[in-house]
Amino acid sequence: MTVDIETVVIGAGAIGLAVAAELARSGQRVLVIERHHTFGTETSSRNSEVIHAGIYYPEGSLRAELCVEGRDRLYAFAEQYGVPVNRCGKLLVATTEAEIAGLAAIEAKAARNGVTDLERLSREDVARLEPEVRCVAATLSPSTGIIDGHAFMAALEAQLLNAGGEVAFNAEVVGAAVLPGEGFRLSVSSSGDVSEWTCARLVNAAGLGASRVGRMLDGAKNDYTVPGLYPAKGHYFALSGRAPFKHLIYPMPSADALGVHLTLDMSGAARFGPDILWQNDLDYGFADADGRRASFAAEIRRYWPALPEDALMPAYTGIRPKIYPEGTPPADFAIHGEAAHGIPGFVALYGIESPGLTSSLAIGVRVAQILGQ
Ligand SMILES: Cc1cc2nc3c(=O)[nH]c(=O)nc-3n(C[C@H](O)[C@H](O)[C@H](O)COP(=O)(O)OP(=O)(O)OC[C@H]3O[C@@H](n4cnc5c(N)ncnc54)[C@H](O)[C@@H]3O)c2cc1C
Repeated sequence: MTVDIETVVIGAGAIGLAVAAELARSGQRVLVIERHHTFGTETSSRNSEVIHAGIYYPEGSLRAELCVEGRDRLYAFAEQYGVPVNRCGKLLVATTEAEIAGLAAIEAKAARNGVTDLERLSREDVARLEPEVRCVAATLSPSTGIIDGHAFMAALEAQLLNAGGEVAFNAEVVGAAVLPGEGFRLSVSSSGDVSEWTCARLVNAAGLGASRVGRMLDGAKNDYTVPGLYPAKGHYFALSGRAPFKHLIYPMPSADALGVHLTLDMSGAARFGPDILWQNDLDYGFADADGRRASFAAEIRRYWPALPEDALMPAYTGIRPKIYPEGTPPADFAIHGEAAHGIPGFVALYGIESPGLTSSLAIGVRVAQILGQ
């Protein structure tokens, strides 16, 4: 059958753009459909901008595999296309003797994931590297870094456009159907009008909107269920004044978040976050700034006792697109192709939370493989 567009990618976040750029490079005609006026205004610009090394995730999981592969691809991409990165390294700190076992467990997990450059540091080693950090031991991850996420997405968009792809902004997918035979019909709302577009292949990279888009399509196998969305907000505080740190500083992680860490941006400014607040909606509002400032300060002083009074300013929030409810075991990235849902030519991405930014280029390659490119 004749379709309007060969491949449509829904969502112009880091994942949709990375997938689209990869598909366009392999010769497909690709259109990205994005409901906002520009790329990356949702989760891809509301995160820590950390290039993760791949140390936390269960062995054999997509998060582990795609993080390690994505990290290497991201550093190489940044060098090739002039995207600002800083391979500043990170310290994972044990602030009590009891936490040292946690360091050992993470080091072992990292080794199983192929991360072989971790280094155990004593209190004295840390004092030499970061005199203001208080801890009893730490693990140094030299391949952790930071990236300018906006510049990264701009480079992906440029690559997509150079390869003949396009992005339709202010266009929201409000309906989707599997066509008899093959292909898809999309209803796209733009400036109050709804138009119908057809495509041969479809990628759902809609982030926090992915479950909603996934449920629009019928035609999946009877035993297939679209993963549900369980939003979990994270708040960030900016540090007023200059931070006395050269590395990122992370406390021990919890089951569902990495802990209130210190991250730097490309200008050297520091922010702390994210915490975790499970919620039922997609409200980005900064909840209880005063109470939260106090709890952040207490967390931060465990590893930086000299945090000045009144130095934390509410900055922004981001929402993790989790696909498991609070209190249940964390889910892996869900990259569902025909083998999962039974719909040829359709790939859907659910639960692409951290380390999604780091993994984005590897996810692009993986989606292209599933689509047979
Ligand atoms: C607090 C926080 C901290 C994080 N820190 C890190 C980190 O340090 N390092 C790291 O590697 N990862 C991190 N992540 C994860 C990373 O940010 C995400 O994995 C990544 O940004 C997801 O990108 P995305 O393209 O899937 O989603 P998004 O950026 O949300 O893009 C999805 C796009 O789809 C569009 N869309 C949705 N529905 C529709 C529709 N119906 N029609 C048209 N368009 C639609 C949206 O407008 C949006 O632009 C963090 C995440 C959070 C929340």
